[in-house]
Amino acid sequence: MAAAAVSGEAYKYVVVGGGTCGCVLADRLTEDKANSVLVLEAGTGKHRDKNIKVPVGILRLFRSAFDWQYETEREEHAGDRGIYLARGKVLGGSSCLNAMLYTRGASADYNSWGVKGWSAEEVLPYFRRSEGNRNLPAGDYHGKDGAYSVEFVRYKNPLHKLFHEACLQAGLPTNDDFNNWSRSQEGLGAFQCAQKFGRRVTAASSYLKRAMKRKNLAIETQAHATRVLFDGDKAIGVEYVKDGEKQVAKIQQGGEVLMCGGAINSPQLLLLSGVGPADHLQAKGVPVVKDLQGVGANLQDQPAVTVMSDVGKPISITDDIFKKGSTKVRPSAALKWLLFGRGPLTSPGCDHGGFLKTKADLPEADLQIRFVPGRAETPDGVQAYRNIGDSGQFNSGVTVQVIGCRPKSRGHLKLKSSDPFEKPEIVVNYLDEQEDVRTLVRGVEIARTILAQDSFKGTVTKEVFPGPSTSGEQSVQQYISSSVHSANAIAGTCKMGEGDDAVVDNNLRVKGLKSLRVVDTSVMPSVPGGQLASVAVMIAEKAADMILQKA
Ligand SMILES: Cc1cc2nc3c(=O)[nH]c(=O)nc-3n(C[C@H](O)[C@H](O)[C@H](O)COP(=O)(O)OP(=O)(O)OC[C@H]3O[C@@H](n4cnc5c(N)ncnc54)[C@H](O)[C@@H]3O)c2cc1C
Repeated sequence: MAAAAVSGEAYKYVVVGGGTCGCVLADRLTEDKANSVLVLEAGTGKHRDKNIKVPVGILRLFRSAFDWQYETEREEHAGDRGIYLARGKVLGGSSCLNAMLYTRGASADYNSWGVKGWSAEEVLPYFRRSEGNRNLPAGDYHGKDGAYSVEFVRYKNPLHKLFHEACLQAGLPTNDDFNNWSRSQEGLGAFQCAQKFGRRVTAASSYLKRAMKRKNLAIETQAHATRVLFDGDKAIGVEYVKDGEKQVAKIQQGGEVLMCGGAINSPQLLLLSGVGPADHLQAKGVPVVKDLQGVGANLQDQPAVTVMSDVGKPISITDDIFKKGSTKVRPSAALKWLLFGRGPLTSPGCDHGGFLKTKADLPEADLQIRFVPGRAETPDGVQAYRNIGDSGQFNSGVTVQVIGCRPKSRGHLKLKSSDPFEKPEIVVNYLDEQEDVRTLVRGVEIARTILAQDSFKGTVTKEVFPGPSTSGEQSVQQYISSSVHSANAIAGTCKMGEGDDAVVDNNLRVKGLKSLRVVDTSVMPSVPGGQLASVAVMIAEKAADMILQKA
């Protein structure tokens, strides 16, 4: 068991944020006994909670104590609504409450970053090193021995079969491995998930677990970092608050502060520490340490909307999981999971789908489709999961979520005040670019086409949302604007690169400062067309080699 921090002690590395990237760093950096590492995590250490371990427990994680529960400012193109953004607040971070899908985008995503050392060819070894694929053979695109276990979900619903038949009937391509970069990412199939024997795999249950056995790792939970401390241009430690008391963690000579708070918290903490656009810092009364215009800019997320239809038979996943009219799990479903790691409790809901180009001349797919063999009672993404988990009122249905997986719109994050406990101003600017709207309009059409195929005849009864009265481009656009939600791919706010807008260099060092790196999803110049947890793990694996000077 890792030790707690000793007040006043200095560590070789202080890792701020024990989330996805923080856990990977904690593991890799403590492999050498000479390195002492302290992880500061604002959330609790309860990453073994049953709702985290059991994949379907995802229904109860949103808006819980494991969630930072952010909200954007009122979004101009989204019906003037604030949009809910879930983020993990627990050891393991967002890997503890994400949907577990294991997709990493296409090779072109990394080549388009244009950052020395981060081309597809150069990041691929780190994907392989981290991946423990339990179904697909090791090879150019997959690893078998990595800490992050991956498998196909061990549950099939009859609606999955109908979905695949419908895709074929609609003339859509198939894909049996979305991470095989030797061919197009396009097609529909089953996503692999970060699971092992039907249990959720997180950065804490994999990387941190093995690191916790080492004496050179200390972990402080419920320790909220409030400021990076500097001596001139050199980071020397981190100020944090635990149990209402201000504390300081220092770094040793030659040590580093490693910021792993994620794409919302890392830029916020940099700003609170005086690193960011000077005029903004001055306006908020924060003394300027380094004028860096890019901090908090370039914020990106994937926009999503859903199409949901009723199904006339009790064959949805919720019918398999819950007793009718109750939030109680069926004993048969619980036993299947407990004894065999199989059955409906192993599903995050959205583990089938794929990627499509909505225009033939696009270089890569702009649309991701996720098929849920269940009825989202409301069209608002992960909030709908929470509503299902709480209500006990399950009707049978199918939901197709369509996602702009390579979004063009950009937003920003700023401080509301210099109070480290006040949530920042988050503007995603969903649908600011017409291309993103076009992708979703086409996505809704494709979802409707799939659900209208022969295979669903006699099963799908009627569309509930957008609903039959929503037809024609204008009306669909109106639906999109009123129901767009986050597909949980927030990134880009401490962009890596060489330009004036970059915050970190290609070694993830904060520009113009010493002994300080950012290692998390905020450094991505743009969102790869997929989900971000495996990319975060890759970034941290690569960062560990840089820090230890192996790369
Ligand atoms: C609802 C949801 C669904 C998702 N679905 C998928 C999916 O299916 N597949 C996929 O690959 N990705 C998915 N993602 C995205 C992916 O999980 C995240 O992008 C990734 O895990 C982020 O990693 P990170 O290390 O950047 O940040 P995080 O994992 O969020 O870690 C940041 C950590 O820092 C801590 N922290 C923050 N501020 C402070 C502070 N001031 N002091 C101390 N600690 C602090 C946080 O509590 C947290 O533990 C999803 C995300 C969400 C939220």
